[in-house]
Amino acid sequence: KKSGERKPLMVLIAAPRGFCAGVDRAIEIVEKAIEKFGAPVYVRHEIVHNRFVVDSLKEKGAIFVEELEEVPDDMPVVFSAHGVPKSVPAEAKRREMIYVDATCPLVSKVHRQAERLIEKGKHIIFIGHAGHPEVIGTMGQVPEGQMTLVETVEDVATLPFTHEDKLSFLTQTTLSVDDTAEIVVALQARYPHIVAPKAEDICYATSNRQEAVKAMAPSCDLVLVIGAPNSSNSLRLVEVAERMGTTARLIQRASEIDPTWLDGVGTVGVTAGASAPEVLVREVVTKLGEWREVEESKIRTAEEKMVFKLPRQLMD
Ligand code: SF4
Repeated sequence: KKSGERKPLMVLIAAPRGFCAGVDRAIEIVEKAIEKFGAPVYVRHEIVHNRFVVDSLKEKGAIFVEELEEVPDDMPVVFSAHGVPKSVPAEAKRREMIYVDATCPLVSKVHRQAERLIEKGKHIIFIGHAGHPEVIGTMGQVPEGQMTLVETVEDVATLPFTHEDKLSFLTQTTLSVDDTAEIVVALQARYPHIVAPKAEDICYATSNRQEAVKAMAPSCDLVLVIGAPNSSNSLRLVEVAERMGTTARLIQRASEIDPTWLDGVGTVGVTAGASAPEVLVREVVTKLGEWREVEESKIRTAEEKMVFKLPRQLMD
């Protein structure tokens, strides 16, 4: 036991947290591809946005690159969970490469919706964050100029479309549920005829993790979100906690925690983005235990049983 004069630190662990079915599948795809084709296997873009995951796969024989042109013709390549523009598999085919697509099936679903909307002659407004690989991938499913990105409610006011334009909208899978709802309200107010997706594009894992933080944050003095700075769903978890009025910090590893953050703190909430493995959660709890006596409990707001099948080429 640590110093007796201090109260124990209450540590609340959010559930669901961490790996989602799409991330599980993407990592397994890289591992299976290495087994099947032998090392090295190239991976275009970080398979999921987590350095720990990327480093462990590197050790198993994965080579990470940003663009297909960095991969030799005769080497197998995996496309990341975030999805890729159509031009990428097209180029791989042209070069007769072996490729495995680890795009999350929930992202692929948005891709197919986009194609169908274009076939029906709609213009698509896409709600998402500029520059994120998922946004680049989804916008790359349709001919240039047929999809317009909006990031904020303010962006909606500047859209050039009229009531004659056949409009529809889709969204990135890892957005803030609340912000997106506001943007959709603004879109529907300006364009009452806009066609909405059949079901919400924000994925179950994103909404469940945000919901758990909403339930947990009011009881916390500090929320630690384990995730990478380029992980969209992790950044959203920080925002959700902050909107509940709780200080929140994004950390990649336990080593980034500054012990002064715990000054005056009675309860710490811990969660992890969809690309952060559970070992990193345990590492954080252990680290907190080095400074204070820890009492750990869980706040669960949903059960998750989603599992995605592997691509057929890796099933045998
Ligand atoms: Fe798929 Fe959602 Fe996970 Fe992204 S966060 S990989 S869309 S399940």
